[in-house]
Amino acid sequence: MSPFLSTIDNLIKAGKTASINKEVILKLQNPDRFVEACIPVRMDEGNLKFFRAYRVQYDNSRGPYKGGIRFHPQVDLEEVKALASLMTIKSAVVDIPMGGAKGGVSINPKELSEKEIENLSRGWARVFVDVIGPNKDVPAPDVYTNAQIMDWIEDEYSQIIGKKTPAVITGKSIKNGGSLGRDKATGLGSFYVFENLLSKLDLGNNLKIAVQGFGNAGRVFIDYAVQKGYKIVAVSDSKGGVYNKDGLDIERLKVHKKENGSVQNFGALKNISNEKLLELDVDILVLAALENQITRENANDIKVKLILEIANGPIIKGADKVLEEKEIVVCPDVLTNAGGVVVSYFEWSQNIKNEKWTEKDVNIRLKEKMTKAFNEVWNMSKEYKVNLRMSAYIVALRRLEKSIKL
Ligand code: GLU
Repeated sequence: MSPFLSTIDNLIKAGKTASINKEVILKLQNPDRFVEACIPVRMDEGNLKFFRAYRVQYDNSRGPYKGGIRFHPQVDLEEVKALASLMTIKSAVVDIPMGGAKGGVSINPKELSEKEIENLSRGWARVFVDVIGPNKDVPAPDVYTNAQIMDWIEDEYSQIIGKKTPAVITGKSIKNGGSLGRDKATGLGSFYVFENLLSKLDLGNNLKIAVQGFGNAGRVFIDYAVQKGYKIVAVSDSKGGVYNKDGLDIERLKVHKKENGSVQNFGALKNISNEKLLELDVDILVLAALENQITRENANDIKVKLILEIANGPIIKGADKVLEEKEIVVCPDVLTNAGGVVVSYFEWSQNIKNEKWTEKDVNIRLKEKMTKAFNEVWNMSKEYKVNLRMSAYIVALRRLEKSIKL
């Protein structure tokens, strides 16, 4: 089942379980708007290349559309639609006054020079200038996009409309109106959820954690986990991973990755493939890479007690059921990784009000939001006797139902 159909299936099930208005569920199966464009980019060698770009505006009944822009070879309309549907649920789970959207460009940014990425980013702003805006649709970073790319998009947009408009996009650099704490927000928010969840579950001591994905979110989560004394025994990136049953030296691993471009071949340690990492006999699996990692094919081989979805859509629908039968607790993406969009909302608010919050202030508010959302999802799962993904959808649908009815 595709990630989009997984969301639809979850929506329908959650809707039935919590008796949500049928027209609301029907509305949420139909994204508001698809925008597909072509971005011409002048390459360093002087030739012109054309890239397919997308923005899917899923639902704005609770506030302006909100969601990241992904630069990745796997991007297509179907994927962007799926990620936009998740953003709609996510914004509602953490109760920020924002809707759901997603954007992307089908490209491997690792093959482009900095200048070419700038041309592409500015091109993205030009082709979508009419559909984005502080009260319309507010993009942000996602896989392989960063603060510099957000700055270029903000600059291009502001130049075109003739007005400095930082609130058009979040995840900008601090100097350009970005919020303190935004770069760490997804990882830190996930860690808050993780600690709340552990306080409810009885998983024992000396927990061993394997993390798939060593990008921004995975790395920050690992840092907080290590600080609190958890043992990280395996880490992987897009090229593969390393494993040491006694724990990894994360600071050294970061240096190794910087110097070698991958976590693999780390000292005398054993390399491990991304697939094998999922099947390790550890306590907790953190999925912080891409979607579709646990499928019906490998779900039976998963041995952990808890899975944390920091990536969007890493477990496909059929696999969820198998994991539930094996009594593996899954903490869903729409709750776990929502810290990113929460601090994006804080950034947007600061830009609109021309304020600057301290990092401490941002983190206190983030913790409050994540803890409240976690408790609501946890309590809802007890009330309806459903898993955490279903209860997160119910929490979101209750809120979406109110606004859509209005
Ligand atoms: N791309 C991030 C996500 O998937 C952040 C979105 C945002 O900040 O708008 O949640």
